[in-house]
Amino acid sequence: QVIYLNGEFVTKENAKVSVYDHGFLYGDGIFEGIRIYNGNIFKCKEHLNRLYDSAKSIMLDIPLSYEEMEAALVETIQRNDMQDGYIRLVVSRGPGNLGLDPKRCPSAWVIIIVEQLAIYPEEAYKNGLISVSVSQRRNIPDALNPKIKSLNYLNNILVKIQANLAGVGEAIMLNSQGYVAEGSSDNIFIIKNDVVYTPPCYVGALEGITRAAIMELCDKLGYTLKEIPFTLHDVYVADEVFFTGTAAEVIAVREVDGRTIGTGKAGPITTHLLEEFRKLVDIDGVQ
Ligand code: PMP
Repeated sequence: QVIYLNGEFVTKENAKVSVYDHGFLYGDGIFEGIRIYNGNIFKCKEHLNRLYDSAKSIMLDIPLSYEEMEAALVETIQRNDMQDGYIRLVVSRGPGNLGLDPKRCPSAWVIIIVEQLAIYPEEAYKNGLISVSVSQRRNIPDALNPKIKSLNYLNNILVKIQANLAGVGEAIMLNSQGYVAEGSSDNIFIIKNDVVYTPPCYVGALEGITRAAIMELCDKLGYTLKEIPFTLHDVYVADEVFFTGTAAEVIAVREVDGRTIGTGKAGPITTHLLEEFRKLVDIDGVQ
């Protein structure tokens, strides 16, 4: 396995970052998680758009042009001979001094890691996950604008810790007003009477690439989709619930906080959307 580190390819053992890197000291940086299917980078443009938008928003100068970044991704995949896997693209503010001033960081660092992905077993896609809501809240609006995919993931990590304590794979985070926001690293959808709902991102959710792909699919397949805020009550009484994310794809939820969702397994619309999503990943990529 080789890792892209500022234009060079180094082994895992030699892929090291300075203790003065502000990504490490302050979470000052951004990242993307991207899938490789059949050697193709899925939704490459969308991920790079989100990356460059996040960079602009936090005034982080990415030292590579868009085209150079795409070429770096492709080369990293090729050097690792990766057909199906996961790319972690990190741009940190780079090494500076102990002060938080980004002016002291002369150059951002770009890191690309490709790895095999440990995802949910296929059984989980049929039977659905058990999930819980957690007390950790997504506070909005604040500097951690959900549109910026920054290295500040403490909020999400606290959700994951609560998920771990409850013995579940993914949990549901509300915002400070009590509206359902998202999971620790997935967007959420519910279905009621054949209408598909997902919270608008202003509620406190990342503008997920998989979320956008599912919204497009709903349109294509003729499902009514509504982007409106909803509460835990709506989740409990939904016919179907599912999470979306680059790693998880489209995964059904069969139980939330002890309430059985619908029939207690992946529902028909969720299953249909997962099937169509998996067709999409074969055709929609950069080679
Ligand atoms: N929300 C959060 C907080 C995430 O970290 C992720 C994973 N990137 C998602 C949602 C899902 O987004 P995507 O479909 O772009 O992976």
